Amino acid sequence: SFNSFYELIGHQGQKYKNKTALFVDNEKITYADILQRADAIAAFLVYHGVQKGDKVALFLRNSPEFVYTVFAASKLGAVVVPINTFLKEEELSYILEDSASTVLITSKIHEKVVKASDAEKLCNFIVWEGEAFEPLDEQNYSYDEAIRFDQSIKANTSGLEDTAVIFYTSGTTGRPKGAMLSHKNIFSNSISGIQHITLKTKDRGIIFLPMFHSFTFSIGIILPLYAGASIVIIKSLQPFSNIFKQTLLKRVTLFFGVPDVYNALSKAKLPWYFMWFNNLRAFISGAAPLQPKTLDAMAKKFKRAKLLEGYGLSEASPAVCMNTLEKQKAGSVGTALAGYEMKVVDENLVELPRGSIGDIIVKGDNVMQGYLNHPDITEETIINGWLLTGDMGYIDDEGYLFIVDRKKDLIISKGINIYPREIEDVIDGFEGISASAVIGVADEKSGEIPVAYIELDEGVEKIDDTALKGYLREHLANFKVPKHIYIIKELPKNATGKVLKRVLKDKLKKDEL
Ligand code: ATP
Repeated sequence: SFNSFYELIGHQGQKYKNKTALFVDNEKITYADILQRADAIAAFLVYHGVQKGDKVALFLRNSPEFVYTVFAASKLGAVVVPINTFLKEEELSYILEDSASTVLITSKIHEKVVKASDAEKLCNFIVWEGEAFEPLDEQNYSYDEAIRFDQSIKANTSGLEDTAVIFYTSGTTGRPKGAMLSHKNIFSNSISGIQHITLKTKDRGIIFLPMFHSFTFSIGIILPLYAGASIVIIKSLQPFSNIFKQTLLKRVTLFFGVPDVYNALSKAKLPWYFMWFNNLRAFISGAAPLQPKTLDAMAKKFKRAKLLEGYGLSEASPAVCMNTLEKQKAGSVGTALAGYEMKVVDENLVELPRGSIGDIIVKGDNVMQGYLNHPDITEETIINGWLLTGDMGYIDDEGYLFIVDRKKDLIISKGINIYPREIEDVIDGFEGISASAVIGVADEKSGEIPVAYIELDEGVEKIDDTALKGYLREHLANFKVPKHIYIIKELPKNATGKVLKRVLKDKLKKDEL
């Protein structure tokens, strides 16, 4: 095992020297290449005064530079702060300030937002990927000079318990909070994850989801490199056809996606040979609930590769549990990874019997160090080593977890709990509806009532209202049937495809005025 990201790449850079670690477009980058570039960038950062404990913010598209920088920072004991590149200037400024990042590494494509933000004021310097890193590659950069710092770099390299990365999560209320994860936290996900999906050195993962997200960062990047496997990097999500072409061409075995992607994939017209001539073993899905119909459609379309749903959150590095290649349970997010404990409890944190719905709590080496600058919220979130996930669900007799919903999305009507996801799953099964979101709206009589927003299938203009209402009454208890159903062109979603229910609630308030 390794003590830091840098130690990991130092080791793999020797052991797998000439093996391709990253495939990017037509370029092949070996393990030794990553080590060399990480060293060069580390020298560059040291030369610019970056020290142990400093925060290096990454506002960066998917690129090999992202990967090099993660290892480079760790060589200095610096902490990386990956920032959602969909954020606007105010949000970027907020995170840079909250994290006290001294360096910002970004791309020219984000120039407008960066320039409009307070980045220049807040950070000591900004590195434009593609500009500043290129001279490094050619070693025009005063490499010799930087080498002089090598001694101090080594002395300061990070340790297992040091914070490695800070992920900002949107959280339940207010501003995003920075979840601090140590090298130990992230490695725990690599070690247990490799075992759970029996990852081998010959495996190849494909990542097109944003690298700033904990799922891609930990499971898509660090885990395969920990295993000596390879990664195919796609710089952006679009077009889908390119992702599938690369999956085929690069003989990808592991596909990292989110429900939205599988939804598209299950509907996409793929060349007939794709069904047979691919090396896929598994499709991994997390971040948001898979629709039952997507699971069905994927199983029909791909006979060999299994769609494995897992569950996690940034605060847990992020993976908590996952289905395995040997056994999958539809609707379940699988069993806990090795070494992690998972419980369903009541408000007093007392464990509930198997099958009962309650709060999901998790314990293990994957549980974050805490929220940056928020010791109070950390104390409420981690109790005796147990992380309160904010999600509700139940565990069956075989230890499979079923997520019911997020606690904050729960609707309480006349004192009875309504889980929006149950209603959404039913609505999604109606012909012509592609997706839905159910939210609770204040009501004088009942406290709260469910209201639904629906997105229609492509090419479908409208649906039969009466038939839909009849269908819902047939499948749901009366109090669960949404009182209003609104058609929406596109449900508001975040980077990983989670529906932003807060945005829907605001919209409803505005529309009703
Ligand atoms: P937020 O901070 O609002 O939770 P985020 O995307 O910033 O959003 P993440 O840590 O990525 O934060 O999200 C974790 C949450 O995603 C979990 O708490 C859970 O609600 C949800 N989630 C993850 N995997 C699944 C799954 N397989 N099924 C249902 N929900 C899931």
